[in-house]
Amino acid sequence: MAAAAIAAAPSGGPEGEMLILVLSAEKDAWVSALGALGASGDASGAQRLGLLFQAIAGFAASHVAFSPANRIGVVGFGSGWSEQLLPAPGEALSSAQGAALPHAAVAGFCRRRLGIEVVGAADAGADASSTGSTPGQVEELGEQGAPVAAGAGTSRSGLPSALSRAALVCMRHRREVPGASRRILVVAPGAGTEGAYVPLLNCAFAARDAGVTIDVVTAAPAEETVFLQQVAHETKGAFAPLTRISVKSPLQHLFLCAGPSASARDVLAPPLQKGVDLRASCMLTGERLSLAFVCFVCLSVFRDRHDECPICHTKAPEASAAKRPKLEPKA
Ligand SMILES: [Zn+2]
Repeated sequence: MAAAAIAAAPSGGPEGEMLILVLSAEKDAWVSALGALGASGDASGAQRLGLLFQAIAGFAASHVAFSPANRIGVVGFGSGWSEQLLPAPGEALSSAQGAALPHAAVAGFCRRRLGIEVVGAADAGADASSTGSTPGQVEELGEQGAPVAAGAGTSRSGLPSALSRAALVCMRHRREVPGASRRILVVAPGAGTEGAYVPLLNCAFAARDAGVTIDVVTAAPAEETVFLQQVAHETKGAFAPLTRISVKSPLQHLFLCAGPSASARDVLAPPLQKGVDLRASCMLTGERLSLAFVCFVCLSVFRDRHDECPICHTKAPEASAAKRPKLEPKA
């Protein structure tokens, strides 16, 4: 009985499961975070990055291979941009996907955005003919799809805009296959989300309300990934940072932490997240606060007291009360 439950678990039930990979192309952050995860004589950060994305491509292909009802989406992002690689625009999300398609999408993303060659895509291309689009078409789409700026001319993280794209894919999938479950897996170095606190948490709340879990795999030290920890915590997803040991076998790490479908997590629970820092961050400085001033209109949080909210420009009650004429009690 238990064996049968485990064997059936990753498929996500008869309706299948929509998994959307949100992948970071922040190469410098990746190389430095992965490089710091091992001794100097070990593999370099760049070599580990190649190994990690090789594993992601394999993980993406295996999700579709687990069940013919499973679907996958791939969204990439970098500093100030995001792009949707899978599903192709206009493609029905309920149409069949071969295992070669997600592999090719990840491989194309690696080649263009990270300068990494992921091997195996050509070998897996044989069964792509059974799907609506071929790996070649996926790469072409990636080439044409102009990155959408999350904030023009800024170095803001593209993660919130990538999560918004993933949410749109989830909404489309819910319309097409109402009974299926949906989840998102973010694979990002972790650092670089400073200043994205509000949009990131908004994405997390929206995902939580839609019943979508967000799993997160990072590589940076814990203190640099607080926002992502909160995103995983809010959506009841797994937060699974790579460690000195798991960085050597990233595919195993992905299967362990993000392999079980949402419906299988009662049986196959991903590792528990310990000690999440749930403190809010100052909207202006990004500093995490235990005690803060909160705007009573937009609920923005600040380290310092402001007579006028810097976000919504509402005057603080005391400030506006001072200018108000005093009400005299009627005789
Ligand atoms: Zn305000």
